[in-house]
Amino acid sequence: MRFPFQKPDSFTLPIQRSDDVFPVNHIYCVGRNYTAHAREMGADNRKPPFFFSKPNWAVVTRGTNIDFPPDTENLNHEVELVIAVGENISIFGFGVGVDLTRRDIQAKAKEEGKPWFLAKCFPGSAPVSEIIPMGDLTDFSDLKLTLSVNGKIKQSGKCKDMIWNPNEIMCELAGEVPLQPGDLIFTGTPEGVGKLEKGDAIVAAVTGVVELSFIIS
Ligand code: MN
Repeated sequence: MRFPFQKPDSFTLPIQRSDDVFPVNHIYCVGRNYTAHAREMGADNRKPPFFFSKPNWAVVTRGTNIDFPPDTENLNHEVELVIAVGENISIFGFGVGVDLTRRDIQAKAKEEGKPWFLAKCFPGSAPVSEIIPMGDLTDFSDLKLTLSVNGKIKQSGKCKDMIWNPNEIMCELAGEVPLQPGDLIFTGTPEGVGKLEKGDAIVAAVTGVVELSFIIS
């Protein structure tokens, strides 16, 4: 097949203990999947979660500093378990990611009934760790998420507190979109989201399993 121009770059994530890399296709995200975070955002905690997406160029991984994005005075961190989709709507693996959000742009969009697109999508807005293949893991409920800023813990949550678990999210999403191998699903953030400044050092982790660190430059 010939293209009239060179195809844009593809985006990949390292896979733990492998020379293979995970090809990032679409990035889907769940909003309000932990009761305490839904509450801190002023939402009714009984409403089901909903979906939005990020472009695949938003992905960056370990060893990459992230430029403080323009047009915001309230860049927020949201630590999330990220599901890596494999073949035939299966879970290939998982990692830890941060759904970086320009909260002031989001607040204005909500107020005006406009899409969240620019609040959620900018270069570097989807930092994700290496992907851990599922192996023997079948259930995420024992996993814990943490995020620290300059050595201080800001978010700490248990995957068992998700309103919808990763399998339910994947099935729900697969009923709505053609889920493909290489897709990533950000599964929502626990409470404690907060502001980031230039120079902040962030460490996000699935405790004892995988870590992702980066600096806002
Ligand atoms: Mn989020």
